[in-house]
Amino acid sequence: MGDLAHPSKVRALAQAHDLRPSRHLGQNFLVDENIVRKIIAAAHLNGTETVVEVGPGFGALTQELLRAAGRVVAVERDPRLVQILRQELGSPPHLLLVEGDARWADWPRLLEEAHALPPRQPGSGAGGVPEAGEPRAKVVANLPYAVTAPVLVSLLESGVAWERGVIMVQREVAERLTAPPGSRVYGALTCLVTYHADAQIVARVPPTVFWPPPQVESAVVALTFRPYPGAEDVPREQLFTVIRLAFQQRRKSLRQALKTRGAPWSRDGVDHALAQAGLDPLSRAEDLGLDQFLRLTEALFAF
Ligand code: SAM
Repeated sequence: MGDLAHPSKVRALAQAHDLRPSRHLGQNFLVDENIVRKIIAAAHLNGTETVVEVGPGFGALTQELLRAAGRVVAVERDPRLVQILRQELGSPPHLLLVEGDARWADWPRLLEEAHALPPRQPGSGAGGVPEAGEPRAKVVANLPYAVTAPVLVSLLESGVAWERGVIMVQREVAERLTAPPGSRVYGALTCLVTYHADAQIVARVPPTVFWPPPQVESAVVALTFRPYPGAEDVPREQLFTVIRLAFQQRRKSLRQALKTRGAPWSRDGVDHALAQAGLDPLSRAEDLGLDQFLRLTEALFAF
């Protein structure tokens, strides 16, 4: 393990570059090798994949990804950290380090650009021989908490066929991403994640593993991407329009919420569609699993 997750190294770098961690940018850096190890292990790296990292910071995860993955794309918003990273990591040929905002990143283009890089040489760390064709894509990140949702949406809606994701998020968000229908924190973001992947909390993380420590607890969530069974027959746009409008008024009954003005289906058809989908019109968005949203979408747009 490199030294970029050592508390003394991280503090020394910050001091040498006069960098005071920005709250606004969610700069809580990992200073605990055990948690770095856990995150890397959960990514199931085999040396052939391209890993996207959002917010590499001082490189605690990046240095390990460079050892274990085929190629690494790291997108960092803070130009000061990009400069420090270039100094600390040198210029490994299989690293694409980009200064930019992950919320607006063009992931397919960045992955294509990374694919043009030579993959890590076998023997320079764990892993196997790179495969021919499109490399498989994974995402591994200790996410900036203030922008977790937009960054996740940008990754999930990018059209990239992700294989696996391991993300550190605020504990409440981890619970939201993995919540079952009916729970208080279940919502549109849960549905979006469920549509793309099976999500599982793999570690609960105390504030002490970060410098500076955040005021919240954290958790590591593993995402195993797969096509959602039965979703292939329902246009994605339609499904997420239904989900968005249903949760926009989550306190209201589905019947009321779906009769909202401007919805792209017939208001008169809502009762029939609910019956067709076998749903109680008085139930609420938070009671519906993705299967039910799929059936409801088909029924609403059948008119
Ligand atoms: N990966 C490092 C670690 O684990 O120590 C740093 C993680 S820190 C929680 C979040 C990082 O994301 C910071 O380096 C911050 O500057 C960066 N960041 C914040 N907003 C960002 C954005 N919109 N796009 C890309 N990076 C961002």
